[in-house]
Amino acid sequence: MRRGTKSLEEFGKELDGGDIPKDILCKAYLPQARLAELYVRMKRKTLKNIVDLFHNKNIVELSGFLNLDMEKDEIVKGVLIDVSKLDGDLAGVIEDIKRIEGVLEVKFSDNVLNGLIIDELFFPLMVGGERSFTLRVESFGAILKRLYEKFGTGAAVILYEMGLGMGESKFKSVVSNYRVDKQTAVKIILAERSAKGWCISRLDEFNSKGAVVLAKDLFECMPFRDRQERPVSQLFRGYLAGIFQQLYGKNVNVTETECIAKGDNVCKFVIQAEK
Ligand SMILES: [Zn+2]
Repeated sequence: MRRGTKSLEEFGKELDGGDIPKDILCKAYLPQARLAELYVRMKRKTLKNIVDLFHNKNIVELSGFLNLDMEKDEIVKGVLIDVSKLDGDLAGVIEDIKRIEGVLEVKFSDNVLNGLIIDELFFPLMVGGERSFTLRVESFGAILKRLYEKFGTGAAVILYEMGLGMGESKFKSVVSNYRVDKQTAVKIILAERSAKGWCISRLDEFNSKGAVVLAKDLFECMPFRDRQERPVSQLFRGYLAGIFQQLYGKNVNVTETECIAKGDNVCKFVIQAEK
């Protein structure tokens, strides 16, 4: 499969991808191991020394992140580590790290319950610099099912309207933050859906009268895969409506013509601008 960086133009020509998961630092479960969590703030050039120290002490990195503050030339490193093969105790390692030149701050946690360590050092969760929270696709599916049970078609309207508002404000913020033209804004928004775990999507067709958007593994439809007679997306359908209404400057109709819920390979949305 083709790999490497794609331009927005090339993005998802064949809707590939979706086979390299991104697992954010959250927890680790290794019943036989000695686990810990570490936070190090340091000068950028110091990173190499930390990596070397881990290597020399047989410390295994399980999951983590690295953020560079360009203005301060500082790196924040957060990591869950396996210290089973460490010679000596963790406190000694922490002291060693503190002694490295360029290390500015160190915190650690070794609060492990039956082989499970949960991140206790980092909050809030930021995604692309924005405060975020996560919701399991399965949980969202349960929310949807409950909504439909209680409110029937009213649930569809509520979800569509929620999406519409989100799409409108997203479009406005992308246009103002990045100072891009409207079509580029749509491409940025769709590319970001993949980065944020919604789906892999792309603009398949686009002209002055309408557009077609394809979405692979859309979170909203996945809980219903192969289980429905008709397309199920309302939130994302509304989201697209919000985006394209802003783009065209008039009302649009968005129809989901293909959907994984009714056995199709991808979800396909046809957007038509009103005359
Ligand atoms: Zn769908």
